[in-house]
Amino acid sequence: MRLLVVEDDLDLSRQLVSALSDAGYAVDAAHDGEEAHFLGETEPYDAVVLDLGLPEMDGVTVLEKWRRDGHAMPVLILTARDRWRDKVAGFDAGADDYVAKPFHTEEILARLRALLRRAAGHASPELECGPLTIDTRAAKVMVDGTPIKLTSLEYRLLAYLMHHRGKVVSRTELVEHLYDQDFDRDSNTIEVFVGRLRKKLGVNLIHTVRGLGYRLSDPAEETAGEAEGKA
Ligand code: CA
Repeated sequence: MRLLVVEDDLDLSRQLVSALSDAGYAVDAAHDGEEAHFLGETEPYDAVVLDLGLPEMDGVTVLEKWRRDGHAMPVLILTARDRWRDKVAGFDAGADDYVAKPFHTEEILARLRALLRRAAGHASPELECGPLTIDTRAAKVMVDGTPIKLTSLEYRLLAYLMHHRGKVVSRTELVEHLYDQDFDRDSNTIEVFVGRLRKKLGVNLIHTVRGLGYRLSDPAEETAGEAEGKA
């Protein structure tokens, strides 16, 4: 999952970026409205944390422009406490949730998890697929009840596939959602990570769809699907 943090207060921005990176997300930062608008138009973020008071272009205008251009990613706005008019303007512009400053980073993390899973159509913070369970609150992965230790990039890859389970995800899409802007991206490394992830999970859940990408699905459902296809 890849996020954009838009905040002109540099200390606060650094604090958010480091907390979100620690939580396993790829994170880009923008420090003014123009930059934020440009990044949101050009990069496929899974969610955005957007401060409203920004230089160059205010947050509400940035959000209105994104929505007008059809960018539907979940947006969590940061507002000053007691500024109810800001909240109303933010929601009217297309915000999905808000947190008032000063905030606890934990609250931002919890609200983002909720936005991300709702955007992917899931109700629970625990995602399941056959023998595999991931708890997005603690970034914990289990296969048949046994905890599996993953690197942060492996977890990010698995979490992305889990949020989009049953769907084919292309290598390009994975590269765009797993790495931040500054990362030296190479879609060949995705293959290597998928290989390692399959080995660590030890169960056949990540299927290669030739020429298209990967699909994570329950082996039981997969066999049923193939049988249907043959019949
Ligand atoms: Ca600000």
